[in-house]
Amino acid sequence: MRTVVEQAVAPGYRMLRRLKNRVLNLVDAPVIVLAYHRVTRLASDPHQLAVKPENFRAQMQHLRQNCRCVRLNEEWSGLREPAVAVTFDDGYADNLHEALPILAETGVPATVFVSTGMLGNPGEFWSDDLARQLLDGGDYPPSFELRDREHGGRWPAASPAERQTLHDRLHRAMLKIEPPRREDWLGQLARWSGRGGTARATHRTLTPAELRELSASPLVTIGAHGVTHTPLALLPEAEQRREITQSRRELEELLGREVTVFSYPFGGWRQFDGTTRRLCREAGFRRAVTTFPGQVHRWTDPLQLPRQLVRDWNAATFAARMESFRV
Ligand SMILES: [Zn+2]
Repeated sequence: MRTVVEQAVAPGYRMLRRLKNRVLNLVDAPVIVLAYHRVTRLASDPHQLAVKPENFRAQMQHLRQNCRCVRLNEEWSGLREPAVAVTFDDGYADNLHEALPILAETGVPATVFVSTGMLGNPGEFWSDDLARQLLDGGDYPPSFELRDREHGGRWPAASPAERQTLHDRLHRAMLKIEPPRREDWLGQLARWSGRGGTARATHRTLTPAELRELSASPLVTIGAHGVTHTPLALLPEAEQRREITQSRRELEELLGREVTVFSYPFGGWRQFDGTTRRLCREAGFRRAVTTFPGQVHRWTDPLQLPRQLVRDWNAATFAARMESFRV
């Protein structure tokens, strides 16, 4: 909730930001990096990661007609007009089956960042698995007990509202624990809910063969996104290094080409830090993207590029948002 004072000064800040961007844009044409995850139609999308195919088509048509579209792994220094780079995080199978045909139809290039631990993995991303365990509908036991030395407890889970609250609580906590402990919690949940097993068809990730097919498109660049989709800043340095270098090496071996761009899993201020950036530089990445908003200028740290998250917007909303990203 914003205070009265914050509400009163917000329009002034927005005006100042626009003014600042106008001046900066005269000096240097910005690149707007857009962040997508999925192009598909989902019955339930708790983190709003999916853009429906018809909206994605309208968005790409808008970019093709109104913007200069650039690639994340190319040189941007000679740009004289504002440009846009499209990126996808995670590596869902729909990137090949639903997004690529629309990219090909509109000629818009895109970079797909892949978490290599999920390549060909029969399960789901941990955050999807958590949502499936708790938000799937049907019957549930009346309460859930988590056995954990630090976060353990028992919470009501009989109603959809109680399960939503429990989901949000566990999701927040799971952003702060390491992968083996996360897997243990998901195992406890699966035994309790009776849900689990192989991935739902709607939440499948790319297989290695599908990734090669996606990467064969001249419009697609593949980047790394860690191995286990864990916020890197919470891991010890050696583990961070392994996530960064192993995801790069696995992709390079699979694709037979150099991987030079990285996306920090979850990508917010608390989810990567100075150590993470240094490790990315040492691993040889030339650019790395975050999830905090902003424009990219020639003075922006290449290992900390802001991105604008795109939601399931129709053509008119997308056009208005693009306008606001540019000024
Ligand atoms: Zn991600």
